[in-house]
Amino acid sequence: MVAGIGNVYKSEVLFLAGVHPDTPASAVAQEALERIMDLARKLLQDNVVPGTPAAIQTYRSLRRTDRRSDPSDSLWVYSRAGQPCRRCGTAISSKKMGLDARATYWCQKCQPPMKNSHRLDTD
Ligand SMILES: [Zn+2]
Repeated sequence: MVAGIGNVYKSEVLFLAGVHPDTPASAVAQEALERIMDLARKLLQDNVVPGTPAAIQTYRSLRRTDRRSDPSDSLWVYSRAGQPCRRCGTAISSKKMGLDARATYWCQKCQPPMKNSHRLDTD
C-alpha cells in the first residue's frame, strides 16, 4: 500500500506504525499515513552510508544496534517469520503479496487487522 519504498521497508515501516499490511491506504488515518511516510524517510536516510551503495544496514535512529553480523538482527519483522516479535513476543506472520510475490511480514498483535474494512489489493 505504500508505493515507492522497498519490500523490506514496507514490512518494517508498517510494523513501526502498527498498521496491518492488509489495511487499504484509504482506511489508514491521515495521521498514521504521515507517520508511515516519515518513518520510511528516516529508514531510507539511515541506510545511506557515504561511500557505499545504499544497503540495508542498521536502523540507528529507531533502534539500538549491536555488533552481530546477521543483517536480519537489525530488522523488526522482515525475514523473521515464526520468530518472536521483538516488541511483544508473538510469532511473526508472513505471506506473499502482490504480483511479484515478495513476502510481507508483520506481527498480528502489534499490527491488528482493521475491522469493518473491505480488502483492497492495492500496493
Ligand atoms: Zn508484536
